[in-house]
Formats: sequence, structure tokens, C-alpha cells
Amino acid sequence: MEFEPVIGLEVHAELRTKSKMFCACEVVDSTTAAPNTTVCPVCSGMPGTLPVVNQKAVEFGIRVALALECEVQQTSIFARKNYFYPDLPKGYQISQYEQPLAINGKLIIRTSEGEQTIRLRRVHLEEDTGKLTHVERDGKSYSLVDLNRAGVPLLEIVSEPDLHSADAARAYGEALRDILRYLGVNSGDMEKGVIRFEANVSVRKKGIAGADGHPPLLGIRTEVKNLNSFRALERAIEYEIERQSKIIEAGRTVEQETLGWNEARGATYSQRSKEDAHDYRYFPEPDLPPLVVEQNWIDEIKSKLPELPRARYLRFIEDYGLTAYDAARLTEEKEVADYFESAVRGLPSTVQPKVAANWMLGDLFSLMNQASKTSEFFKNSEAWNRVRPEALAELVKIVSEGQINQTSAREVLNEMFESGRGAAEIIAARGLKQVSDESFIAELVSQALKENPNEAASFRSGKTGVVNFLFGQVMKKAAGRANPQVVRAELEKQLAQ
Ligand code: ADP
Ligand code: MG
Ligand code: ZN
Repeated sequence: MEFEPVIGLEVHAELRTKSKMFCACEVVDSTTAAPNTTVCPVCSGMPGTLPVVNQKAVEFGIRVALALECEVQQTSIFARKNYFYPDLPKGYQISQYEQPLAINGKLIIRTSEGEQTIRLRRVHLEEDTGKLTHVERDGKSYSLVDLNRAGVPLLEIVSEPDLHSADAARAYGEALRDILRYLGVNSGDMEKGVIRFEANVSVRKKGIAGADGHPPLLGIRTEVKNLNSFRALERAIEYEIERQSKIIEAGRTVEQETLGWNEARGATYSQRSKEDAHDYRYFPEPDLPPLVVEQNWIDEIKSKLPELPRARYLRFIEDYGLTAYDAARLTEEKEVADYFESAVRGLPSTVQPKVAANWMLGDLFSLMNQASKTSEFFKNSEAWNRVRPEALAELVKIVSEGQINQTSAREVLNEMFESGRGAAEIIAARGLKQVSDESFIAELVSQALKENPNEAASFRSGKTGVVNFLFGQVMKKAAGRANPQVVRAELEKQLAQ
């Protein structure tokens, strides 16, 4: 039997505002700050306190909604989602339910199969919970509660069930993260849990259409909670597709349930079944008025949206003649794309932008990668400052003029990165300028041939491959600084004599 997977994602993204969603407490990095240091009566749920909406969080929410081409609702309603858990001091989470901030958006993703439009159902504002840490001490178990994160603004973005593979789900997650970063509303630090996924997964038999031309019915879904990395998202979906397909193949039915993901075992596990699904008893938050946003505010936010990753990706291919792969890597992050465009502005018109892209994606990225030891080097602005785009452009220009060869250029870039000095200065100080002087090179070639008579003879007897050895000898004499084209030509000339 062939199955078609159907996936809908719910994404929670923390909004990087200064203060929390409903109080003035500072938003801190909850993975490093001392526990319970940014807590007040409002976010710790004291009786008698009242929430006040953070305007910046609303602005950030609208910014995301517009970037995702949603309809922003002029009036949305905060609602209480009631449940008991130790990380939720009020006993309810303020969220939005029946009237969310925005609806009906779309996100275009790219996979190996090309581009695909994923419809978005809704975008709404809510608040994060606190964090629990479970510890063992003296043979007893404790749960430690940290409320620094309680009340941090969260945006929930819900897709329609338009995704059909783990791969597509990952592409969706990454595209969304890139947009959130471009908009400056979220750091994208996955390992800090600032973006979390919930995957709704079902499978259906392939090729079965619904009645009367309706789209085929959806299978029964499971929902995998708390996926904190792209890898976990991908693996959990693959696992569920496989598990559900086997159940249906065996003639049984999938049970609708909420699942957790065990990273170590690489398997999902049941958290609760449909029967004990929560009844959250949603009702409009009585302590907050309806959230009304004026059209001119929406228009103003819209007018300030930056160019988004996909538009920039298409423009980079079109304007700079980059490959799709290079354009994708260079536009993943705004800072990287900005850097590239600054470098290109510093190049003479005779040099292809592609050359600057190669230097960035090759040597520069690998230097930054080594220096930062994490894949997050993109965001390390200190590293980006060591070689400014103008300085990279200067180096690329010098190489294109044949002043130094590729090998020397690598060394120069290394030193630029270490010392922050400019290419011209380093080249002068180290005497790296490439030598093209023909009589000087002719002298080196002649010496090398004299010193290696056997190799010269075997070349003349037809073993032409030995020329590479002789080339190496000449370059060694020139300490790598001789112009390789001139050396090759001179070698061929003298060997032919
Ligand atoms: P809930 O809030 O209970 O999780 P929703 O109806 O809001 O339920 O759906 C949440 C997510 O589940 C959405 O992303 C939606 O696209 C997805 N979804 C709904 N039904 C299915 C299904 N049968 N298969 C896969 N995904 C589904
Ligand atoms: Mg859900
Ligand atoms: Zn507070």
C-alpha cells in the first residue's frame, strides 16, 4: 500500500521584546540568567494584579503576520486557556482563541522538488510558561520552578495540513526561522528553545479522492509536542509516518493522541489519548479589552518591512548571477546577505560578484567557523568585524589583478582575520607580491632544470607528466610568489629547447 503523509505544523516563537507580554519585567535569556530574577506579581500570578498588553509585542506580531501575507484582524480577542501545571502560576495562559491576531497567510518553501506554497491558518499572540528542572538530591526528586520565562511574549503560527514529507516540514521550519530573524523579532537560537515545533501528522492511502470531487479525507492525526530542533522535527515526523503506515497496513486504526518525542530512543511515546484530552475552558480574558489595531498602524508596519529572504534569494540569482545554492546560503541570514552586497559594491566592475561569493562561502566562512566552534558563527558580529566587506573586496580585487596568487591570497585572508589588518598592508609587509618578471622567472627555471637533469631528460623522452614536479621546484625557489602562468610558459619553452 502506498501512503501519503499529511502534516500541519504549530510553531511557537518567542518575541524578542525588552519586557514581557503583560508586565514590565525584563525578558532575559532564560538558559543563562539566574532563576527567578525577572519576576513580578503579574507574571507570578498574584491575586489582584492586572495584565497590560505590550505594544511592541503586538507590533512584532503584526510584522510577522504581514511578512507571512496574513490578513491582520482589526479586532482580536485575548482568551484564557485554563489548565493546571506548576510552570503556569496563574492557572491559565493568556492566549488568543476564536479571534486571533491574523489569519489566512502563506509561506513559500523550497525543497529538492522545487517551490511549494504552504497555507497558514492563523497567527496569534500569547505568553510563555515558566521552566521546570527536575533534579535528584539525596535520593529525593525535586522540581525546580524558574519563572523568568513566564509571561515572555510568544507568537503561535499555525499552518494548514499542506506539508507532505519530513523534508518539507524542515524546509518550512527553516524558512520561518529565517523570516523571524530577518524581521528582528526572534534570535533563531534553536538550542535556547526560542522556537519550538508541534507536528500534527497523519497518513492516508494514496490516490483515493474524496466524494463528489472534494479533496480526499484526512487520516486520523497524532500531535507530537515540544520539538526543539529541526532534526527532532524531521525525525519525529519520519517516525510517525512509518508507525502510522504500519498500523493501517495491518488493518488497524491510528489512535488520535498527543505524543512526546524521546530523542535518545528516536521514538515518539504517548502522553495522552483523545479521551483525556484537555478541556481548556477557553473564555475571553476579562482583564483585557479587545485588541484593536488601527489600519494606519498596520500600513506603517508594512511599509517598514525589510526585503524578505525569498525575494532576496531570487534577486541574488537574477542580479549577481549566483547559483541557487550560493544564493540560498547567502540569504539565509540578513547580516550575511548585507555583508555580501557591501563587498560586491567594493568590487571593480570587471570582477564577477560570484568571486566574492566564493571567498565568503569558502575561506571566510571556514575561518569564522573554526574561530567560533559553533554553527552559529553567522550571528557572531565580532567575527564579521574582523574582515569588513570593503576589506574582502580589496583582497578580491588584488587577486583579480594578478598581484598575488590564490595560495598567497588564502594566507593573506587568514592574517586579515587574525589581525584585522588590510590586504595591501599584509602583502607589502610579507613581500607576497607575485613576481611576473620574465627574465627573473627564466633564471629560476633554468636553475631548476640544471638541478634536476634526470627529470628534464625523462620529460624530453615523452614522460610529460614530470612537468608538474619541475613546476613545483620552480615555485619553491620563488617561495610560491612566481606567477604560475609565466612559470608554466617558461618551463615549456625551455624544455622544448
Ligand atoms: P488543535 O488546536 O487541537 O491542535 P487544530 O485544528 O488547530 O487543532 O490543528 C492544529 C494543526 O493540525 C494545524 O496545523 C492543522 O493543519 C493540523 N491538522 C489538522 N488535522 C490534521 C490531519 N488530519 N493531519 C495532519 N495535520 C492536521
Ligand atoms: Mg495542537
Ligand atoms: Zn512580571
